[in-house]
Amino acid sequence: MAGGSELLLLIRDRKIPVPKYVVALEPLKKDLSYVKVEDDTVKIGALTTLWGLHNSILGRDKRFAGFEDVFHGFATMAMRFYATLGGNLVSATQYNDYITLLLVYDAKLKLQSVNGVRELSLEEFLIDKRKVDLRPNELITEISFKLPPENSSSSFIKFDRRRILIAGVVTGAAYLELEGNTIKDVRVSFDMVRDKRIPARARKTEEFLKGKELSEEILEEAAEKVLPTEMVRITDWWTTAEYRMDMSKVVLKRNILKAAERIREG
Ligand SMILES: Cc1cc2nc3c(=O)[nH]c(=O)nc-3n(C[C@H](O)[C@H](O)[C@H](O)COP(=O)(O)OP(=O)(O)OC[C@H]3O[C@@H](n4cnc5c(N)ncnc54)[C@H](O)[C@@H]3O)c2cc1C
Repeated sequence: MAGGSELLLLIRDRKIPVPKYVVALEPLKKDLSYVKVEDDTVKIGALTTLWGLHNSILGRDKRFAGFEDVFHGFATMAMRFYATLGGNLVSATQYNDYITLLLVYDAKLKLQSVNGVRELSLEEFLIDKRKVDLRPNELITEISFKLPPENSSSSFIKFDRRRILIAGVVTGAAYLELEGNTIKDVRVSFDMVRDKRIPARARKTEEFLKGKELSEEILEEAAEKVLPTEMVRITDWWTTAEYRMDMSKVVLKRNILKAAERIREG
């Protein structure tokens, strides 16, 4: 157990068998709580709290602006002091906002056990809802991604009917790299793209946008003609698939425009 914000509720609500023992990861915090830049790589200790992320370079530099977007929409202020990044990734649902964000940074994970260290991408780690490639004796120790260039930024939007303590009817993230007004690189993700109920990248939309001049018209085309060809939305008691699809298009366009604005503002 890291912050316990997810695990204790799963146990309380009997969504998982009551474990015989719960091991607190707290004593490892002094070693696994950090954000640093080394060898052109951003490295984050898995036990870093969301407050710790906010107080690091990730909370100050426009290249990581999406981290602040997630932070300010996350649960309650109190929870941001103890919930950890590692716990968020292992929880693996469509409502885990740092997963949606870290997918657009092409994040990698370091998993450690007595048998050694494994490294895999966040995409490889995510198998399905609440199913991750984590062996029983393994811990995530580090999350890392390539240091983005200066002409880049990101954005994250969690859309719901109210503003606090929300799961998000639609959430999405975008990473954008501009050269003048040309889209040099773009990555977009949503809480759900295909039938698995976990966040994923919308790669066809990314491919369509790469190399094009950024304009509202091109974003409109990507949202109306490309995104729907790769996205499956579902109806549940929150809302309908049609509404989710419409809002996904809006989130895509707004995220990219917001990232572009952040790049230009510097
Ligand atoms: C009221 C409420 C609101 C919430 N709002 C949001 C929200 O807005 N956005 C969002 O994304 N999430 C939200 N969550 C979900 C949850 O708070 C987050 O997923 C949080 O980041 C989990 O981190 P934790 O440290 O508390 O994890 P824990 O509860 O301690 O652990 C969760 C799981 O991860 C495992 N684990 C933890 N750390 C590691 C590690 N280093 N290596 C291997 N396994 C590990 C644990 O064994 C457990 O299975 C909310 C939860 C609640 C109860």
